[in-house]
Amino acid sequence: MIYVHVPFCKRFCTYCDFYSEITEEGCFKAWADEACAEIRRRARDIKDDPKTLYFGGGTPSVLPLSVLTRLLITLDEVGHGGPYREFTMEVNPEDIVEKGKGYVESLKALGVNRVSIGVQSFDDALLQWMNRRHDAARAREAFRIVREAGVDNVSIDLIFGISHLSDEVWADTVDQAVALGPEHISCYQLTVEGESALADQVAAGAYTEADDALCRRQYDILCQKLSAAGYHHYEISNFARPGFEAVHNGGYWDRRPYVGIGPGAHSFHGSTRSWNSKVLHGWTATTETLSPEDARVETLMLSLRTDKGIDAAFLHKNCRKEDIGRLVESGALVPVGNRYRIPEDRFFVSDEIVRELI
Ligand code: SF4
Repeated sequence: MIYVHVPFCKRFCTYCDFYSEITEEGCFKAWADEACAEIRRRARDIKDDPKTLYFGGGTPSVLPLSVLTRLLITLDEVGHGGPYREFTMEVNPEDIVEKGKGYVESLKALGVNRVSIGVQSFDDALLQWMNRRHDAARAREAFRIVREAGVDNVSIDLIFGISHLSDEVWADTVDQAVALGPEHISCYQLTVEGESALADQVAAGAYTEADDALCRRQYDILCQKLSAAGYHHYEISNFARPGFEAVHNGGYWDRRPYVGIGPGAHSFHGSTRSWNSKVLHGWTATTETLSPEDARVETLMLSLRTDKGIDAAFLHKNCRKEDIGRLVESGALVPVGNRYRIPEDRFFVSDEIVRELI
């Protein structure tokens, strides 16, 4: 599993604190030189189980095709080239509309078989507040272009839990997403991230976080509408048409080893985690060794995010009998075969449930 972090955006969104720099003329070459060098240096750490490649960001769709091709050739040269079981590219709707169908066809020709579109909302006022580059019409247009180019695995990202987002507007956004018919929908509750513009707004009293009741209502609207539309709610924030569950992200929740390339990217090697510094040039990795306790907590937190849940033997070995019994009795944990899962109607409070087990 390989993740490549593309640290460029054309503008910064209100809520975001992912590492990224504003794109400038000629900014890609030096980054690509260093990313290719990192791929060569770390080739032996890459495990192809599952064999996935994920370009995230930042905004991977700002990359010229020649730069993307260079990275793929480098992966090929070190023995980790395609075809990949899943090769995802995150794209911004505006880039897709500007670059057109030919661009998406070229992505496909390079091996991309899954496109994740950062739609976030179908409400223009909200998109403006988020400082997104696109409006709702351009998001729909981008989806149409991606489809016309023949991509048959498309994911859409949406955000809920914004204090001035009404339930009606949210329900309409979910309806519009369903009407497009993507194979996959990821929905995230807005959180105030440390280095985002939103954190400054909160500090200045210009934004107040949504209360739990609003977030809960909007999560329930989401679950109800996507379930009615036939989506499989396979992870707290993720829904898919059966068979289109994300393979790469599934690897994160299963704690499979992955290598992250580029500034700010994280890697996991089984008993260690590392993360690259957030600088455009000369990024370096910091590594920490995970203690058995770290591994226990991570396994609980990640497994219980999914509808597969956690292995029963692991749970009984690593958690107190009385905690498990109490949670099962209250319906917060449900035994399914030789596993335990959190039922969908408790996904929203899964953090609290996991805390009780920890
Ligand atoms: S949300 Fe995406 S496009 Fe917006 S600033 Fe963050 S990385 Fe860039």
